[in-house]
Amino acid sequence: MEYIGGEPEPGCLFCRALADPEAELVVDRPPGALLLLNKFPYNSGHVLVAPAAHKGDLTDLDMQETAQLMAAVQLTLRVLRQELRPEGFNVGVNLGRVAGAGVPDHVHFHVVPRWNGDTNFMPVLAEVKVVNEHLTRTAEKLRQAFAAAH
Ligand SMILES: [Zn+2]
Repeated sequence: MEYIGGEPEPGCLFCRALADPEAELVVDRPPGALLLLNKFPYNSGHVLVAPAAHKGDLTDLDMQETAQLMAAVQLTLRVLRQELRPEGFNVGVNLGRVAGAGVPDHVHFHVVPRWNGDTNFMPVLAEVKVVNEHLTRTAEKLRQAFAAAH
């Protein structure tokens, strides 16, 4: 595994997944990036897109890392659009704990597919368990879709 720049962190969710070829919920490993299903999704198909480098801020990424990360976001949008047929997406980055970053030391995009009428967040919270039961199956389905998209 090649870490460009940032050092691998054993306690870091993304670095652990990068180092573990069997890591569950990893759906693809495009150049310089990692695509991981969020264990606590806001919605079905909520993918985290992280650079391979353990860096905490978008401004820490060099041009190649930035380009590879954005290409991975584009790939994610294309595959999720094809597989899940959402009507829209939220794509965003939380920088810093105060902004809601769960892993503040390793920057990552959230790509959240949206459907009309999915905006009630109480049911979303209540459904986290239900979604999780399907998470492994969703991961398997998306792994195949990403593999086919290469
Ligand atoms: Zn990391």
